[in-house]
Amino acid sequence: MQRYEIIVIGGGAAGWAAAISSARAGKRTLLLERFGYLGGWATAALVNPFMSHRASDGETLVGGLYKELRDRLAAEGSLLGNSFDSETLRFVMQESLLESGAQLRLHTVFDAAKYLPGKKISVVTRSKSGVEEFVCDRLVDCSGDGDAAAALGAGFESGDENGVPQAVTLMFDMGGVELEKVMTYVRDHPDQMRFPKLPAESEPAKLAEGVVSVAGYYDLIAEARSKGEYQAAGELIFFIGRPHKGEVVFNTTHVGNIDGTNAEDLTKAEIESRRQMASIVSFVKKYVPGFEKSYLLRSAEHVGIRETRRIFGDYVFCADDVIEARKFGDCICRLAYPVDIHAGKGDGYTKAEGRQAPNVPPPGDWYEIPYRCLLPVGLENVLVAGRCVSSTQAGHGAIRIIPACVAMGQAAGIAAAISLEHGVSVREIDNTMLMDSLRAQGALV
Ligand SMILES: Cc1cc2nc3c(=O)[nH]c(=O)nc-3n(C[C@H](O)[C@H](O)[C@H](O)COP(=O)(O)OP(=O)(O)OC[C@H]3O[C@@H](n4cnc5c(N)ncnc54)[C@H](O)[C@@H]3O)c2cc1C
Repeated sequence: MQRYEIIVIGGGAAGWAAAISSARAGKRTLLLERFGYLGGWATAALVNPFMSHRASDGETLVGGLYKELRDRLAAEGSLLGNSFDSETLRFVMQESLLESGAQLRLHTVFDAAKYLPGKKISVVTRSKSGVEEFVCDRLVDCSGDGDAAAALGAGFESGDENGVPQAVTLMFDMGGVELEKVMTYVRDHPDQMRFPKLPAESEPAKLAEGVVSVAGYYDLIAEARSKGEYQAAGELIFFIGRPHKGEVVFNTTHVGNIDGTNAEDLTKAEIESRRQMASIVSFVKKYVPGFEKSYLLRSAEHVGIRETRRIFGDYVFCADDVIEARKFGDCICRLAYPVDIHAGKGDGYTKAEGRQAPNVPPPGDWYEIPYRCLLPVGLENVLVAGRCVSSTQAGHGAIRIIPACVAMGQAAGIAAAISLEHGVSVREIDNTMLMDSLRAQGALV
């Protein structure tokens, strides 16, 4: 049996940050990850770009480890605006984690957890080494699915009022795309685009040098569908440029009614979304100007799951927190990203934006995520961070983005370390001390 002060489950955006901040605080820290690399959905699911970490007036809202990550990507020439290269991300996350002194165990699946006398926590894993047990004083669940918190008995909910979660998406990268040609068509056909709608004087060559983000091609899709040459969901395709020339990532496939904690559903999602991907690849090569010589570069290793368990915490983050730009005395992250929900049925993107209700804070303003969202009701010495935190579906739709997951993870790691340092539970730590520690590490709270 191996003993650690802090164990972090899951090495996605949140878990990476939690393990680094706890190790930097001098705590013996272990990060357990089921895949062979770090990044979670930002690498395994090919999610890109980082959604906005700024207010509408441009003020930067998220700093700390998120800034460090961006700086390292930029130093490698792998960041363009908010768009990043996912291979470089795997590498810089790995190296920065190891530099922090945290220990890393890859290819290891969390299986079970239970409390031991003295409120220590036993964590059981499965891997090629067999079944192993680890013991820790504090557990930070960054599995995205709340696997560990649920195993310890935390309550949770999933999906909308009927339990239907947001649709899932298999992301994929294409290379060999002639972006100048793409942007020429986009400029000349604003009626065919949901975005961008470019002024006639726009220069495609210049646009192609920046971050390309395109959603549309309504008539081409309708034509291909009528000929039996398009089988994916939705009325449009959506792709975003990667930092490397001629590479774009598609966020277009959608499969509905998938429970990301159910292997049967996941199998169905992988099969169906891969069929959609094949159809989209054939379609763009035949129909979309600029894609004639393009090719499928890579598909995600795991279909992207937007939401599964949202663990019940001491505070449940909701849409009103976003719209009313609420501030909290235990703020761990500032954000202005809107409530963003992909319909659960899996119909895909439509020409018109469906949402009528307000979904953003007032111009220039922001909202805050309270530390209490990280504290599972009824559990001691356990924190959750990232996309499994306590929230309604709408609240979750705002705070699930990568910059926020990094910020929540950083706060969870520091909070776990403070609670050990002061011999109190994670629920009893002083908010001022937490926020001061976060500020000392560059966080903007
Ligand atoms: C299709 C899609 C598109 C998105 N688009 C954007 C976007 O454009 N911009 C943006 O900012 N955000 C986007 N998001 C949201 C964002 O990607 C995620 O919410 C965020 O990356 C979640 O980070 P996390 O660390 O909380 O969880 P995850 O990234 O899910 O990481 C969890 C980690 O835990 C590991 N794990 C899980 N279970 C176990 C276990 N039992 N044992 C061991 N390890 C385990 C996983 O392998 C993974 O590495 C998108 C999400 C999806 C699915």
